[in-house]
Amino acid sequence: MHPVTDQLLTLNAGSSSVKFALFDAAEVAATPGSTLPRALWSGQAEGLGAGLAARLYVKDARGSTVHESVLPQANATHAGALDAMLAWRERNPASAAIRAVGHRIVHGGTRFTHPVPINLAVLEELERLVPLAPLHQPHNLAGIHAAMRTFAGVPQLACFDTAFHAKQSDVNQRFALPRALYDAGVRRYGFHGLSYESVLAQLPALDPGLPQARVIVAHLGNGASMCAVQGGRSVATTMSFSPLDGLVMGTRCGQLDPAVVLYLLEQQGMRVADVTRLLFRESGLLGLSGISSDMRTLEMSREPAAAQAVAHFVEQVVQHAGKLAAAMRGVDAIVFAGGIGENSATLRAAVLSQLTWLGVQPDSAANRANGPRLTVAGSPVSAWVVHTNEEAVIARHVAQMLATHA
Ligand code: ADP
Repeated sequence: MHPVTDQLLTLNAGSSSVKFALFDAAEVAATPGSTLPRALWSGQAEGLGAGLAARLYVKDARGSTVHESVLPQANATHAGALDAMLAWRERNPASAAIRAVGHRIVHGGTRFTHPVPINLAVLEELERLVPLAPLHQPHNLAGIHAAMRTFAGVPQLACFDTAFHAKQSDVNQRFALPRALYDAGVRRYGFHGLSYESVLAQLPALDPGLPQARVIVAHLGNGASMCAVQGGRSVATTMSFSPLDGLVMGTRCGQLDPAVVLYLLEQQGMRVADVTRLLFRESGLLGLSGISSDMRTLEMSREPAAAQAVAHFVEQVVQHAGKLAAAMRGVDAIVFAGGIGENSATLRAAVLSQLTWLGVQPDSAANRANGPRLTVAGSPVSAWVVHTNEEAVIARHVAQMLATHA
């Protein structure tokens, strides 16, 4: 059994789920910067807000499921999920006081380029950012409100997906729109920053040269983006003003000619809400295949439309890799992360076989075995699989906050 010391809680509140992880506070503080701390427990409540019952799962540090329950419809909310998680924790023999809470927040705007302790002024600013991420930010805020009610007086930290990209060059942060719009916040922000941070933290253990190298990280999940990272800093990334841009995703369209939106509004008479639903929920792999948004389902399907959707996804990853390599004027390594990047050897093989012109020499057996190295020894460009771990990065930021404000 674990010693009973204070714990850190991380929360990642999405539209229909709340992911959480509990860390031993002392252990996180003692973990060196070159490694990521390990959660004691992690889990999620999923199926929230659909007017139906939801489910709560909890896993231990080894990944074994230690709890599974149904949340009745009345409790299938973000606050209900937090309550259910806490009720499980109360019954857990190793539960302890929550010392601090860290939240994953999608949008930090131009102001929040580092994690920030949450107070009323910060909350107001986060509310003001809702129009920039209307489909994500409100859920993050619901997570904060639920945690503030439950843990009154406990320090809470907001960690932003945009912050990692805040130091990109002026050229890479601008759209070619009138300057006033940039000043008003219409710019390329980029997202998935906590995932990229967690991937970078794991590179030294794979190869000591990687932290200084030119690396393309492909976070391929339901939401998907890629980032050019040089010397540990974000140079360019595929998502921009919103998490809609760039790669084809589960249900999001990715890069699109803006004139398509004008055409839908003006010529097809669609309403704004319909276009929003189309671009965020009905496009991507789901729209292309007409079958599913789920890569695993598409890879198993024999329907030609499923194969076409997968081919489209692969082609977009390959083309964006070329663009990001150009942004760094070369590339030394490619890293796959996210549910698809970490688990689909087929998808990785398809991408790597189309990147040999860049200097990638794939090792098929290593790829089938899930790496972590996916290229042969001496390959001019190496390729890797890394497990994304946003929770560990948030926990690390929380421990740093506690150390700073001690
Ligand atoms: P999210 O962006 O919601 O966090 P994930 O990172 O969990 O998403 O990725 C979900 C995606 O990963 C789904 O498309 C799922 O089908 C895919 N995936 C998970 N395991 C596999 C697998 N073994 N083979 C292919 N795809 C997989």
